[in-house]
Amino acid sequence: MTTQLAPAPDTTARRDHIYPTLTAAQLARIAVHGRRRQVEEGEVLVEAGEPVARLFVVVAGRIDVVRQSAGKEEVVVSFGPGMFTGEVTMLSGRHGLAQIRAAAAGEVIEVGRDDLLALIQADGELNEIFMRAFILRRVELINRGVGDVVVLGSSHCQGTLRIREFLTRNGHPFTMVDLDRDAGVEEVLGRFHVSAADVPVVICRCDVVLRNPTNQQIADALGFNDAIDQTHVRDLVIVGAGPAGLAAAVYGASEGLDVLVVESTAPGGQAGSSSRIENYLGFPMGISGQELAGRAYTQAEKFGAQVMIAKDATRLACDRRPYALETSDGQRVPARSVIIATGAEYRRLPIDNLQRFEGAGVYYAATSMEAQLCAGDEVVVVGAGNSAGQAAVFLAQTARKVHMLVRSGGLADTMSRYLILRIEDHPAIALHAQTEIVSLEGNGHLERVGWRDSETGGVETHAIRHVFTMTGAVPGTRWLNACVSLDAKGFIKTGPDLSPDDLAAARWPLPRPPHLLETSLPGVFAVGDVRAGSLKRVASAVGEGSIAIAAVHQVLHE
Ligand SMILES: Cc1cc2nc3c(=O)[nH]c(=O)nc-3n(C[C@H](O)[C@H](O)[C@H](O)COP(=O)(O)OP(=O)(O)OC[C@H]3O[C@@H](n4cnc5c(N)ncnc54)[C@H](O)[C@@H]3O)c2cc1C
Repeated sequence: MTTQLAPAPDTTARRDHIYPTLTAAQLARIAVHGRRRQVEEGEVLVEAGEPVARLFVVVAGRIDVVRQSAGKEEVVVSFGPGMFTGEVTMLSGRHGLAQIRAAAAGEVIEVGRDDLLALIQADGELNEIFMRAFILRRVELINRGVGDVVVLGSSHCQGTLRIREFLTRNGHPFTMVDLDRDAGVEEVLGRFHVSAADVPVVICRCDVVLRNPTNQQIADALGFNDAIDQTHVRDLVIVGAGPAGLAAAVYGASEGLDVLVVESTAPGGQAGSSSRIENYLGFPMGISGQELAGRAYTQAEKFGAQVMIAKDATRLACDRRPYALETSDGQRVPARSVIIATGAEYRRLPIDNLQRFEGAGVYYAATSMEAQLCAGDEVVVVGAGNSAGQAAVFLAQTARKVHMLVRSGGLADTMSRYLILRIEDHPAIALHAQTEIVSLEGNGHLERVGWRDSETGGVETHAIRHVFTMTGAVPGTRWLNACVSLDAKGFIKTGPDLSPDDLAAARWPLPRPPHLLETSLPGVFAVGDVRAGSLKRVASAVGEGSIAIAAVHQVLHE
């Protein structure tokens, strides 16, 4: 039995963008890149779960996109003459979510994935039509829950949250069955022979059942990386798909380089966890980190960059060229040049429910934007370094009171003298030494903060809505096995920051000095937060990722 899915509420204009009808002139331009052929009624053009390698444009007849749901067939969407199949999986070559089938005898233009990529790079008008339709179709699939994954779990469970975040940040639609809320859960558990003790459970394409899987296991089951050849020598391998790595991928691939990005979780990096980035050029209303990352990811794939998801870089084999990047699944990816964009992780407070308040009362930066948010309020600044000191002095200009919480006995060993004097002199700053945060409470937004004086053991709870944690960032360089020079905190030194001693110790082999963002190893670059002295901002990470490409070209021609 086949039923028609109710379309999501849409304006006509939006539906025209999602399901456009091409003109005769546009069809003629596509036909040059594809092959016209007849189809029979009922002919399966792409099976659900198959890698998506072809797009179909309907010349005559009708094509249906069909999926199985609870034992029934549902037509997700129908395409008539002038319309085309496909969504963002066309760019990545990932597995399709549904079956594509000729609903009537007719004629189609079949276009292979590589030909499609060539077409949209060369034809500005078709580029806009295809890219907009692909992106909007994926958004619609996510909104309508049309996917091939069911997550059984509890919203109170960290593992469930991790899996939901992984799928969401990778733009993969899924249905969530919450064991604490959904009726009929026992029946679902029984159907897949799992018990409540197994959760979180991920069911892929109705047949693969994963019990508390790692991100890598989910990516493997869904074939996220199946279309990627890891063996041939790439012009450029980028490690990390945060803003810096994605920018390098977009610029590198758009300038004709063969680019592979290796990312341990999902595109977006730290920026992907920001609910609204307000200081990035061109977005006066702000943009969520997830949206910015999703756009950049699609843009990189459009230009032909490939992004390997849920794979950690575990080692750089740097003793000879081409270099090789070793990944967590034991693969070696050879590379003529490498950009390290593994960012940094802000040290987080060891509080169980911290994540709930990140961006909703807990901040990792104190800019004028955050200062405005807490103007006239009491705030807490945690940390004893210069960044904490600067934040406290800055916030004290607008906040009613700044509580500085320091785990040690004081600031003398860790903060510059001038900052200590300003803090001591400022009437709105109260220094609490030997004090640690022990609880965060609130409904949606942070409302109360508890802290303990470790000398007396006394705990106090205060009605405070803003906590700034300034306890430093840990660079993502542990995997680098001493291939490149690092500063004292483990960040990568580049260009003019490399002293003659650094270069001598690294046995720099070339007569020229390192390029601006080049490390102590020729042809290996570092950009964004992982780089010593970088600004730790989205815009600067994007800028560094982009300008590194100019030097990559020079190195490849050396
Ligand atoms: C909550 C929050 C809010 C923020 N808000 C703003 C803001 O409003 N404006 C602003 O300008 N900045 C903001 N920032 C800072 C900004 O996000 C960072 O400066 C920026 O993301 C740095 O980009 P990056 O690409 O250098 O590194 P990251 O964003 O850290 O990305 C690094 C990527 O590398 C991956 N990776 C790490 N190690 C490996 C490995 N071994 N193998 C494979 N992959 C690896 C990580 O998974 C990650 O995806 C915010 C940061 C946070 C945490």
